[in-house]
Amino acid sequence: MQIQTTIFTLGGEFADPARESEFRAERMPEWLRYCRLAFFWAALLNALFYANDFLRFLGTPHFAVAVTARSILVFVSLVCLALLRRVRGFRELHTLGLVWCAAAVPACAVLLSPQTEAALFFLFVLPIIYTQGFPLAFRAAAVVSLLGSGLALAFHLAGKPWAAWELGLLLALVTENAVLLLLLSRSNRLQRQEWTASRAAERAGLELDEHRRMLQTLLKAVPAPLLVLSRSHGALFQANAAARRFFGEAACSDAASIRACFRPEDFARLTSDLPPAGEVAEHEIRVFPPDGPPRDMLLVATTAVAGGRETVLAILVDVTRRKEMEVHLQWLASTDPLTGLANRSRFFEEAAREIGRARRNGHSLAVLMVDIDYFKRINDTCGHDVGDAALRAFAGLCGGLLRGQDLAARLGGEEFGLLLPETDGEGGLVLAERLRAGVEGMRLEGLAGPMTISVGVAEVLPGEEGVDAALSRADHALYEAKRAGRNRAVAYACPSQGEASAGA
Ligand code: GH3
Ligand code: MG
Ligand code: MG
Repeated sequence: MQIQTTIFTLGGEFADPARESEFRAERMPEWLRYCRLAFFWAALLNALFYANDFLRFLGTPHFAVAVTARSILVFVSLVCLALLRRVRGFRELHTLGLVWCAAAVPACAVLLSPQTEAALFFLFVLPIIYTQGFPLAFRAAAVVSLLGSGLALAFHLAGKPWAAWELGLLLALVTENAVLLLLLSRSNRLQRQEWTASRAAERAGLELDEHRRMLQTLLKAVPAPLLVLSRSHGALFQANAAARRFFGEAACSDAASIRACFRPEDFARLTSDLPPAGEVAEHEIRVFPPDGPPRDMLLVATTAVAGGRETVLAILVDVTRRKEMEVHLQWLASTDPLTGLANRSRFFEEAAREIGRARRNGHSLAVLMVDIDYFKRINDTCGHDVGDAALRAFAGLCGGLLRGQDLAARLGGEEFGLLLPETDGEGGLVLAERLRAGVEGMRLEGLAGPMTISVGVAEVLPGEEGVDAALSRADHALYEAKRAGRNRAVAYACPSQGEASAGA
């Protein structure tokens, strides 16, 4: 709301009557206190002046007039003092002030009629009382002061021969009235300016409080855990409701407790490692709520200067489910669903990685090609289910025989590829024979006789960058194993060297 602050130049009061009444209403308690004192002292001082009247005028014609005027002043002051209790608003207070003045103007004029030093002194005191004595509106104060001064001067001078100094006296009184009214106008203006400024400050304070409350409400309403921290020393300024639910009240009670929920390097991302203000940092981190399992979270953080302090705003989004889904999808994309072994594409990915590692470390790497013998016959005679169970049984056997770093993959149908890091052709042949014997020894439900496999073994040669050549050699050895009667493991050998074989 726009505040109307126009102030009259002459009287120093607000141009807007509503605003002026508001100002006066707020000043009422102070003015009432002041008026009580003013009426009390007016009554008391005039009562004391009875002594002066007795000493100066007893036995003169002026005595009766002076005592009457004095009595009116004392009486009116006491009545006004009593009536002050009933005053509720400024209008009533103003009326009371005017009533006092209406009695005081003629009474004082009468009291100042003798040309004594005291009367002359009070002639100049009267404008001060009329302009400053009561909280009258400027116009009323001006009228009362000028009228009161004029009447008092008239009474003071009346009935005496004209003297040259009387004009000077008149001009001095006019000057005094002008100066006092200027002072009244200035004091009015200053009071109203000060009041306006304090009202504006009060309103600004209220608006600031309102904004603060709104901000707090919004922060609390953010559905994801939100932390507001000091960038310099990690002190926790705020934790919204979602953060308190997620980490627990105790963890959100101080900086050390919340810090314990993060890995040190992740917490550092919230303070020293953040980008400059205005930029947003995103990290996937793992947090450790005190009362629950570790969670994968997406940390979105930015810095802002708030209240002169460099502050970090960090929002944490729980991505645990998404991460689990990612892992599951990755597993699906790289796994053969029937056997649970790696699928063809994973086999080639791992092979490329293992060849790189073998070349870097100077280690050997063996590749095995496995094919189940007469598998079509198993399917045809015992049914596909038995065939599937046979494939799974072979996968289970691989799980039991291979080392942790070895990899078995189903390359298609009833063909499998095995990667054996840090193993040469000879070692590969040993494992191949162990597999062959293992399969031959297995008893499968629904299958009358034993199942057998043929295995071709080859070693990745130094300088080979891919697995294809070794795989094709292993395939060649597998073909040899089939040709030699199946149920055997054959290691590839250069055509000039002949082939090593093992098996039944
Ligand atoms: P060989 O000894 O020469 O390898 O003879 P084989 O019968 O094993 O070879 P062939 O390639 O003729 O037959 C492979 C069979 O494997 C044919 C196909 O029906 C079967 N097969 C392929 N994938 C699956 C599968 O997922 N489940 C089952 N039960 N059978 C499959
Ligand atoms: Mg086959
Ligand atoms: Mg086969």
